[in-house]
Amino acid sequence: LKEALNLNSEDIQKLREDLKIKIKNSNIGAYIEQLENKDINSCGNGIPIAIKNNINVENWELTCSSNILKGYIAPFNATVIEKLKNAGLSPFGLTNMDEFAMGSSTESSCHGKTLNPVDTSRIPGGSSGGSAAAVAAGLAIAALGTDTGGSIRQPAAYCGCVGMKPTYGRVSRYGIAAYSSSLDQCGPITQNVEDAAILYDILAGYDEKDSTSANIEYTKVTPNLNSDKKFTIAVIDNFIDEASDEIKTAFNNTVKILEEQGHKIVHTNMIDSSKIISTYYIISAAEASANLARYDGVRYGYRATSSNLKDMYVDTKTQGFGYEVKKRIMVGSFVLSSGYYDAYYIKAQKVRSIIKSEFDKIFESADLILSPVAPTTAPKFGSYSTALEMYLADLYTISINLAGLPAISLPVAKDSLGLPIGLQLIANSFEEQTLFDGALSME
Ligand code: GLN
Repeated sequence: LKEALNLNSEDIQKLREDLKIKIKNSNIGAYIEQLENKDINSCGNGIPIAIKNNINVENWELTCSSNILKGYIAPFNATVIEKLKNAGLSPFGLTNMDEFAMGSSTESSCHGKTLNPVDTSRIPGGSSGGSAAAVAAGLAIAALGTDTGGSIRQPAAYCGCVGMKPTYGRVSRYGIAAYSSSLDQCGPITQNVEDAAILYDILAGYDEKDSTSANIEYTKVTPNLNSDKKFTIAVIDNFIDEASDEIKTAFNNTVKILEEQGHKIVHTNMIDSSKIISTYYIISAAEASANLARYDGVRYGYRATSSNLKDMYVDTKTQGFGYEVKKRIMVGSFVLSSGYYDAYYIKAQKVRSIIKSEFDKIFESADLILSPVAPTTAPKFGSYSTALEMYLADLYTISINLAGLPAISLPVAKDSLGLPIGLQLIANSFEEQTLFDGALSME
């Protein structure tokens, strides 16, 4: 991306044409539609950026990889798209994702699955699997993803690229289809840390159209990037035990290198991960059930042909939503129902504030936290026998969303099969400069 920003318009056109050919010849399903079918010039001739298909790009189909939205044409640009355009970048291709961003594998998409370009028998991760696979395969120079519980960082780790989730409120959610409004953030997926910083700077900043956007001063990180700064980096010991041996080894090696570079490592512990997973899956499902109520066959996309209004609602949702989405709507409705609200939803909110205060405490004496992104490298297709197994693999990423913190995942090593191992750095809220400086020193 950095190099592309220095190209003249003729070279940018060449780059776009090259990408088009590469995408046409690729077979990993990173994009939901071949670019030749799209009027890609309608979004300008700027530096091409791949866009996860839950972000509104005016006049392009917004499907969220769900049958219920197939054929729905976005009537406006999300704020992040306007920001790209103002910076001379152009949306270029829509990337595949798990349906409504619910999942960790990009398998729950109505467009079919995306393959991991490093090993096509493996999942690319998710839910921004299309964006990460596109960047890793050289089919995009950079991409936008969204991260509700790891959907930028985990596919970046599985595919071997860099993925960054900003502080909650730092990047506008206006025009991004909501999954779980108190957790969702949009961020960059790139080939290296500096590109992530450049794209982050383009996306970040207050937006009055998003009531949860943070109205606080924002200083660009890219001009101040510094890989020589020394930090105190916390390691959460009780989390590391849950990773595979190869991830543990990569983690310990990275800790050693960071110490040799002059960073100070401190050890700490946190609430156990099973509580974090339950909390996340209660809160995200509750918010999803409210957010997805709008897809009723009247206002957006697909409408079933039924004889009366009530049947039309039921049939539209029955036919339009996939299995995982239906399950989460039901779980969400259950935990919000009057008889169970206190037992589940309120309790989860309480645990959420405990998680947040535990992070606050760690940041009293540390600048950054180092953690695995996922307990294993990219699994093979079909290796999860239950959805619960897949949920459990989210243990390292979801607490960061519950606490609203910024985090960046970057490749640090390969396992014995040559699969990328990603680790993440986590910073305190709005400390993105520290996050990028720390990540640069790890690259
Ligand atoms: N895997 C998590 C889920 O299924 C996270 C998804 C995301 O970040 N969008 O909810």
